[in-house]
Amino acid sequence: MALLITSDCINCDVCEPVCPNQAIFMGPVIYEINPNLCTECIGHFDKPQCVAVCPVACIPKDPAHSETDEELRSKYTRITGKLIP
Ligand code: SF4
Ligand code: SF4
Repeated sequence: MALLITSDCINCDVCEPVCPNQAIFMGPVIYEINPNLCTECIGHFDKPQCVAVCPVACIPKDPAHSETDEELRSKYTRITGKLIP
């Protein structure tokens, strides 16, 4: 499933540049994640890069966007035009 940034976000700016899918953007108040672009970093990295760098641990999974690994792999292919080996 896609990930979600909660209201604990302190707008520290470190997650946006590490997202390989350009899924993170500055919203009206805090950073937000576009669920259509977040693959949990599947296809790019072993672990979600935004979670790895967030200093306040405010990026849980988004229960409103539940997806299987297979669906996330398909999303990666749709975004990049590449298959995951
Ligand atoms: Fe971007 Fe990966 Fe975080 Fe999703 S999990 S928002 S793809 S860095
Ligand atoms: Fe917000 Fe965490 Fe991203 Fe910093 S790394 S902008 S605290 S979500």
